[in-house]
Amino acid sequence: MPYFGCHLSPSGGYAAMVRTAASLGADTVQFFPRNPRGSRAKAPDLEDAAQAGALMGERGFGPIVAHGAYTMNLCTWDPEARAFAAQVLTEDLGRTTLLPGCLYNFHPGSHVGQGLQEGVRQIAAALEGALAAEPTACVLLETMAGKGTEIGGRFQELRMILDAVQSPQLHVCLDTCHVWDGGYDIVGCLDGVLEEFDQVLGLDHLRAIHLNDSKNPLGAHKDRHACLGEGCMGLEALTRVATHPALGHLPMILETPNDLPGYAREIGILRQA
Ligand code: FE
Ligand code: FE
Ligand code: ZN
Repeated sequence: MPYFGCHLSPSGGYAAMVRTAASLGADTVQFFPRNPRGSRAKAPDLEDAAQAGALMGERGFGPIVAHGAYTMNLCTWDPEARAFAAQVLTEDLGRTTLLPGCLYNFHPGSHVGQGLQEGVRQIAAALEGALAAEPTACVLLETMAGKGTEIGGRFQELRMILDAVQSPQLHVCLDTCHVWDGGYDIVGCLDGVLEEFDQVLGLDHLRAIHLNDSKNPLGAHKDRHACLGEGCMGLEALTRVATHPALGHLPMILETPNDLPGYAREIGILRQA
């Protein structure tokens, strides 16, 4: 059985966030380690992090996921903004390491016209810098919808980053809405997409799933999430992901447009699938 959870706010502290997740029936959770639109992060509260870790142990939580800010673009054209993004990555990874079993997932970036090769080079440079500080957390590259100049819409693009960095700490998070929007038919042929993932990236690199329906059809390159069963993918296809034997050990995070009762409902549906 995978671990199921949802995206929550850590604004009341990590321990409170874990308690809220558990009350929804979750045994994993995802959160922004800093305000997703802003750049400031609160000073880390070590006691709160330790309490959260103890609670996760008691409740049998699997790995949890910190999600880098959407605004953090490691391959933007402006060198100053790029250096700032790289600094945010390094800081985020440092504080992610405070929480036991916490993964750090982020959107690889948009090359904004610099080209794929240059974008990959810049992302790899930032990752190498952040990993040189020896954080213990693993880093996940998220599969993207391929909107605009976004890198990561094809598995091959994530492979280029893995190859450039060559770190045992660098892995991948698969977002069902994003790969669908990117043109991978995980509704019609889940096994085919997983096989392609395995061939290009290696299934051992898959460390987390974002479980979302999509408001748009296959290959739309839009990235608009829908509640399970309310989008173009459908509940049946998403429960096939949730129950797939090759994915049974992974944290699966809902990023669906829900309030807390909605998340509890969707987690319940997945557990019964
Ligand atoms: Fe994401
Ligand atoms: Fe996602
Ligand atoms: Zn998305």
